[in-house]
Amino acid sequence: MIPIIDGHTDYLLSLLETGRDFLTESDCGHVDLPRARRGHLAAMFSAVFIRDAYLPDQALLRTMRAVDRLLQTIAASGGAMQLVTTVSELEHCLRTGTFGAILHFEGAEAIDPEFAVLRLAYRLGLRSLGLTWSRPNIYAEGVGPDDRGRGLTDLGRALVRACNELGVLIDVSHLNDAGFWDVIERSTQPVVASHSNCRALCPVPRNLTDEQIRALAAKGGLLGINFHVGFLRPGAERPDEVSLGDVIAHIDHVAELVGIDYVAFGSDFDGATMPHDLPDAAAMPRLVEALSRHGYDDVAVRKICYENWLRVLRTVWRA
Ligand SMILES: [Zn+2]
Repeated sequence: MIPIIDGHTDYLLSLLETGRDFLTESDCGHVDLPRARRGHLAAMFSAVFIRDAYLPDQALLRTMRAVDRLLQTIAASGGAMQLVTTVSELEHCLRTGTFGAILHFEGAEAIDPEFAVLRLAYRLGLRSLGLTWSRPNIYAEGVGPDDRGRGLTDLGRALVRACNELGVLIDVSHLNDAGFWDVIERSTQPVVASHSNCRALCPVPRNLTDEQIRALAAKGGLLGINFHVGFLRPGAERPDEVSLGDVIAHIDHVAELVGIDYVAFGSDFDGATMPHDLPDAAAMPRLVEALSRHGYDDVAVRKICYENWLRVLRTVWRA
């Protein structure tokens, strides 16, 4: 089976809020280690997300709790799970089936303006950062009701530079349009939209315009297709309103627009509502089979499943 890299999952939030154990199968949420294995998921970007209630004062503490939970889970896994901080560690996971966790912050609320937390988080394993979630902070504005249309602040531009220098991937999902274009202009490295779809097919602000998708591709980045029903089909709210075919339609659109090298997966497992025929991580092989049936050859399927993510991370990460 072809291994998969998933560009965005919220399981750390689910673990913190429900108290469930990632290492044992659960009927809660969309992913745990047994279901990830059945789904042939070799690695997942593991997001640290801070709810509004913890902002601003508790952002760093909540972040540390999530990172601690991840590291404790890995320590208890008996080698079944590992933190992925380098390309060779990621390749090891793809080869052996060890489950790799890539640490991602979904918003920079925990990061201080002197970037001390950024540098220390890098030492803890941080390798991917979204400047903001769907709300404003001192670095940028997110999409959503509070979007006043402003681009990155001076601090936001400095944060892009700091990430480029450290080798932290920059993720523009949740960023507003003005911030998106500032990142495209400023970043010296490829950037990704880890869990966003095509606005041409589903016109919501969390999805990207064709022009934005072209800009991501021109920088060597990618779009990770999000399985959230409301980002796949306009107005959809329930699992039965959306199917695997809608996921494939967004993949087709990116492939036709810029080529197969710039599309991958960013499921949003444990953070969104999944289509009825893709209810959790264990169902991923259905999507892979559907891609083959739809006409994507083995070379294309491998690119979508993991090679495109691997290419971006080889470029951006320092090791
Ligand atoms: Zn998100």
